[in-house]
Amino acid sequence: MLSAGWLFPQKPRIYRIGYANFPPLIWKTPAGPAGFAVEVAKEAARRKKIELEWVSLPGGPEAALKSGTIDLYPIFANTPQRRGLIHMSRPWWESPLALIVDRRSNLKTLDQVDGRRLSVVDFSVTQNMAHALFPHSPHVMKIPYEEVLQAACTGEADAEFLTVSLYLELLQQGVRGCEGVSLAPIFIPDVSISYSIGARAGAERAADQIAAEIVDLTYDGTLARLGARSGEIVSNQAQLVRSLSAERRMTNFLFVVAIGLAAAAVLVGWQNRRVRKARESAERARKAEAEFLAHMSHEIRTPMNGVLGMLSLALETNMAAETHEYLETANHSALALLSVLNDILDFSKIDAGKLEMESIEFSPKQMVEQCVKTLSQEARRKGLSIVQEIGRDVPEWCIGDPNRLRQVLLNLLNNGIKFTDRGGVSVKAELGRLGSTDVALHFEVRDTGMGIPLSQQETIFQAFKQADRSTTRKFGGTGLGLAIVARLVEMMNGRIWVESEPDRGSAFHFTVVLGRTPVRENGGAEPLVGHARGAVQG
Ligand code: ADP
Repeated sequence: MLSAGWLFPQKPRIYRIGYANFPPLIWKTPAGPAGFAVEVAKEAARRKKIELEWVSLPGGPEAALKSGTIDLYPIFANTPQRRGLIHMSRPWWESPLALIVDRRSNLKTLDQVDGRRLSVVDFSVTQNMAHALFPHSPHVMKIPYEEVLQAACTGEADAEFLTVSLYLELLQQGVRGCEGVSLAPIFIPDVSISYSIGARAGAERAADQIAAEIVDLTYDGTLARLGARSGEIVSNQAQLVRSLSAERRMTNFLFVVAIGLAAAAVLVGWQNRRVRKARESAERARKAEAEFLAHMSHEIRTPMNGVLGMLSLALETNMAAETHEYLETANHSALALLSVLNDILDFSKIDAGKLEMESIEFSPKQMVEQCVKTLSQEARRKGLSIVQEIGRDVPEWCIGDPNRLRQVLLNLLNNGIKFTDRGGVSVKAELGRLGSTDVALHFEVRDTGMGIPLSQQETIFQAFKQADRSTTRKFGGTGLGLAIVARLVEMMNGRIWVESEPDRGSAFHFTVVLGRTPVRENGGAEPLVGHARGAVQG
């Protein structure tokens, strides 16, 4: 696409910049503008490729900027009164102020001067400042700058209020009427006038660019060089400008950082609240769901047990072989369904925090033996061996929840048998730690089955996770068994982990912490435990 700029090349804009007599920073000369501020503005504009046309002003810059006679003014006193009316770049120059007195007057402090006759140079900004600083002084004089010192020398005024640089300039020029008079400055601490580039509407950007470039002129020494040429004392002021600009940059940077931090804090707070609310409502929903399932447990199990009871009674009656076979299948299906329901209901009960652990006395050894006995028929059916081994130092009696421990052991042994085709399964119990009031036991359920790939060894303890998708097809199951086991173990203050190698087998380890029964152990029941080893061969 053709741009309008290509068809109608725009003429570079020329900015009209004013100059007036404002010694020693700007002079009107027959050859045009001169002085430090002019040199500096010219150089900065040249570097920024901003074209300037210098326009001589009969009066002050404020009116010229307001009327639009000029676009810019290079050294425009930056005062609060002016700030809202005319655009001002950031300040690029500072002039300290002083009172000049005749030494013979014995005036030494600012307080002594307040109330005395002041002569003030005929610049509106200086006059306003004099009013503000010396409210009790009648400002008798508003004098063209050339005559300003004269008033102090002739005794027309007690003191002279002006910028330090103008004072130095006038001293250098020599003032008529001051011959033989010894003048002394009283510096006014912390008070100075700062100067910006003033701009009328539409020229703000140019003003800001020139001012920014002037600040950069301090870095390569250009400002000091220009100052030296026009007799202006630059080093201190340049330093002042430089530190001011650095400070301002730092302030800007800190401001941006602070805004950034505040925004981040608000965002994080808002996000946290959202996350917390979402988590709370998700938690409430999850609890409600789990509670519902836990309540349903009873409602589902009761009729299921009815079905199973009736089926087993029916199976014991005389009937045709074909009918017997149908009922047998129905019985198997009902048992499988009950096991799935049990898993789901158990899991939701644990999840809802509704499962309570019992604390009763039981014998871990007897329990292991019972579990092995329960599953020996199934192992035999698959042609697998099933072996148990109880450590000699495992206490005969402990306190805990035997039903939950049994559930864990049966689940692991069941899985062992389910996922093993050759060899067998074993269960081992040994003493982990014997405390004064509690005892830690370590169990290991090992098989010689298909094993679990390393990548899936961690996820199998999560709900609904199966090592291999084909598992469900081949072996059935819900993927809840190990999740329930892991939570039960956790509730018994233990931990569970697996070691496995595909095609070689798996070893599930878990620990539980049980209470000790001092009375029985000290009371002689202990000898029950030996190094028991039993095997049921398939
Ligand atoms: P499932 O009801 O599916 O058996 P589990 O939580 O008990 O659920 O087991 C999760 C998965 O872990 C199983 O589907 C199987 O892939 C794997 N797994 C568990 N025990 C064994 C084992 N002894 N040998 C091989 N894989 C096993």
